[in-house]
Amino acid sequence: MTERIYNFSAGPAVLPLPVLEQVQRDLISLPGVGMSILEISHRSKKFDEIIQGAEEDMRKLAGIPANYHILFLQGGASLQFSMVPMNLLPAGGKADYILTGSWSKKAMKEAQKIGSVNVPASTESDNFSRIPKQSELKLDPEATYVHYTTNNTIFGTEWSYIPDVGSTPLVADASSDIFSGPIDIEKYALIYAGAQKNLAPAGLTLVIIRDDMLARSPKGMHTMLDYNTHASNKSLYNTPPVFAIYVMRLVMTWLLENGGLEAMKRLNDEKARILYESIDSSDFYRGHAASDSRSSMNVTFRLPSEDLEKQFVSEATRAGLDGLKGHRSVGGCRASIYNAFPKSGVESLSAFMKEFERTNRQ
Ligand code: PMP
Repeated sequence: MTERIYNFSAGPAVLPLPVLEQVQRDLISLPGVGMSILEISHRSKKFDEIIQGAEEDMRKLAGIPANYHILFLQGGASLQFSMVPMNLLPAGGKADYILTGSWSKKAMKEAQKIGSVNVPASTESDNFSRIPKQSELKLDPEATYVHYTTNNTIFGTEWSYIPDVGSTPLVADASSDIFSGPIDIEKYALIYAGAQKNLAPAGLTLVIIRDDMLARSPKGMHTMLDYNTHASNKSLYNTPPVFAIYVMRLVMTWLLENGGLEAMKRLNDEKARILYESIDSSDFYRGHAASDSRSSMNVTFRLPSEDLEKQFVSEATRAGLDGLKGHRSVGGCRASIYNAFPKSGVESLSAFMKEFERTNRQ
């Protein structure tokens, strides 16, 4: 097998090796089927087993109750920026959007095309380096829902608590930390996530929606944009992303076999601790996120100069540590360490950081 390097990409991102190996083994011919997953009908018995298996394992893994639908959609988390308000926000109605980064702003812009948006809190003036405290949230009691982004992929901040929004339905974009630890589904009315970080390859979007939210979709909605279409057709109204669903099904099994979400949380916390310790133990590196807002999935940091940052990224790539360039809006470096990212890769980066500092400190 060709040697694999450590992939710190923010997404599409690293997948569990045992999953890739199984995909490779079974790609030409699925056991008992004699055809590739890339070739079989989404209406076949085998695919039915796969999509149902994915849903069952996900319910078990995350404790998703029966009154929530699990939808496997397309269009990325970005299409959910539109589908959420199209379905949940009545024309001229009001919604709350908490702004903690570029993705929450993009989500808000789509909602503004349908109704009026109140911003209960924004940390933009701090360059999105922190998550607001509960006491900062100025929620609108008339909002039809509250939207927030659980983990800010670009800025490397993550909510350490679920905002208390009273009886207003809570909607979360959990694209970059879904299933990185236990999740209290019943606190949410709707959760969505692009799959290409913690779940599967790109092309698949997960939506977990509480039953009562389905009744909110206005009559006359375009069929494909209506959550009811996908809920009543078990995500098979049209041809779904068959391959991505298959890989996600294997990822769900891998998560269950590896101790589930509690075990993932322990491992993710440990990986993040190693990197934040490397940052904190020196004034050569500077974390972007405030310490109480740090993400366990995307670790963002700066070096003393942009030239050193460029050099760091290119030398790291040569050392088999790929994808460390930060997003242009923050600059610097970003290490994305999702569920499937191995602890050994974090240890390698930490050692590389020490050595880079030793040879480049002026
Ligand atoms: N929300 C968050 C938090 C993201 O990180 C991303 C993608 N990086 C998106 C939304 C957009 O996702 P997609 O590319 O699947 O549309």
